[in-house]
Amino acid sequence: MRHQRRRREIIETARRMNALGLNRGTSGNISARVDGGLLITPSGIPYEECRPGDIVEMGMDGASDDRRRPSSEWRFHRDILAARPEVGAVVHAHSTFATTLACLGRGIPAFHYMIAVAGGRDIRCAPYATFGTQALSDAAVTALEGRRACLLANHGMIAVGPALKAALALAVEVEALAEQYWRVLQVGEPTLLDDAEMDGVLEKFKAYGQDARGQGETG
Ligand code: 13P
Ligand code: ZN
Repeated sequence: MRHQRRRREIIETARRMNALGLNRGTSGNISARVDGGLLITPSGIPYEECRPGDIVEMGMDGASDDRRRPSSEWRFHRDILAARPEVGAVVHAHSTFATTLACLGRGIPAFHYMIAVAGGRDIRCAPYATFGTQALSDAAVTALEGRRACLLANHGMIAVGPALKAALALAVEVEALAEQYWRVLQVGEPTLLDDAEMDGVLEKFKAYGQDARGQGETG
């Protein structure tokens, strides 16, 4: 079997996603780019029961010789990876707060500077389309333009990254922002940061954290 290590990484990421409380049961799905295509979680198999041979390798044409049926959302995983060469992994979850906002058809505006973590001035909500359809994939790819995360109306969220770890970490951030925004809305309307401020934050994010030399390390 090809890509044993990546298959294990996908299973570990999926289990961590559920352990972190981002997802329950067999909701959600995860993919990672490999040469010529992608690896994706199988449809409807609990992650605890998933073995490397259950992960499905698929070409960019959607064809697969593997024994399991791929996630019903293979279209948006494939289409995101095709549209975004810098993306190496895609995480989809039905996390509670992101899904709550998505069921209201609300994206997340710049109520907090950390919105920039998703790559832009807001996190969009893609219009509703039935799960597993090309229409949902098209809506997701559009909502992700210039972004690394989006909500899916009446459904959940998607977070992408250069690798599995980064995509899952972003999903955690987006869920935290969704919870904070939801809580704010219980009390009133937040003051939103304007475009100039968000553009400044986006610029600042480019140099956030440690550089290649580990400048700023304490130990
Ligand atoms: P799969 O089990 O087919 O991946 O479906 C879960 C899901 O979240 C569909 O949107
Ligand atoms: Zn879903």
